[in-house]
Amino acid sequence: MSNVAPILFVFVDGLGLGSSDPDVNPLADKQKFPNLGKLLAHSVPFDASLGVPGLPQSATGQAALLTGLNAPALIGRHIEGFPPPRLKELVQEHNIFSKLLAVGKTCTFANAYWLDDVAHIPARRASVTTVATLTAFGGVRGKADLLANRAVYHDLTREKLRDRGYDGPLITPEEAADHLIGLANEHDFTLFEFFQTDHAGHSGDPEHISQTLEKLDRFFGVLFRFDGVLIVTSDHGNIEDISVRTHTANPVPLFVSGQTSLAAVKRIDQLVPAILRLIAR
Ligand SMILES: [Zn+2]
Repeated sequence: MSNVAPILFVFVDGLGLGSSDPDVNPLADKQKFPNLGKLLAHSVPFDASLGVPGLPQSATGQAALLTGLNAPALIGRHIEGFPPPRLKELVQEHNIFSKLLAVGKTCTFANAYWLDDVAHIPARRASVTTVATLTAFGGVRGKADLLANRAVYHDLTREKLRDRGYDGPLITPEEAADHLIGLANEHDFTLFEFFQTDHAGHSGDPEHISQTLEKLDRFFGVLFRFDGVLIVTSDHGNIEDISVRTHTANPVPLFVSGQTSLAAVKRIDQLVPAILRLIAR
């Protein structure tokens, strides 16, 4: 561990800064989602388009967030979903985990994978975070870590794991936040990925959107107590505009607690260099 406070980076897929009209933007309802309201009120706008035409997408956006490179400009367009080979190579070569390990810092990806063996991750459906994690650590947090509360499932409560044979207890979003804080306190840098916001946005289903945001709101209620530097941002907008089911061109929020120099960055590809400057001091 370094002398700098530990950094917890919570990546929320498909969360933009949108209208103040609750009929368009469910996040504008501050009474329903007080913690998300607080998060957004203390965020600065962060550019996810990176000067490349078209709507920003997940594969290139996440690559930019985790490598500090303008991935869509380098590849020539915004690419959705899972990274193709060229983008994968960029992530393998330039991801933040490998950069931190190279300067002697500790880091981890807190998400749990419901498997015993990393060989079971299908290569074609490996997300940017999975590629970065496998490259840097040669493995992921699996079943045993989850059962010991040393990993957080992407849906926070483990409900989605029921379909996959998990018969352990469901947990609350608050408990998931406690588990995440526990891991973050043991590492210089911890990443957690929440992508149900993007799925809910694409579904266009108001009930699904509302339930997803409520869960996330409760999660942040506890995460705000984290003593280190909490960073929250996204790869593109989506859930903040229920009038469309696609991504949006809105800026995404950048929330940073405990350290103000990071909040001066303007674009999603500037975050990794800023984190490295902060943490490698
Ligand atoms: Zn995305």
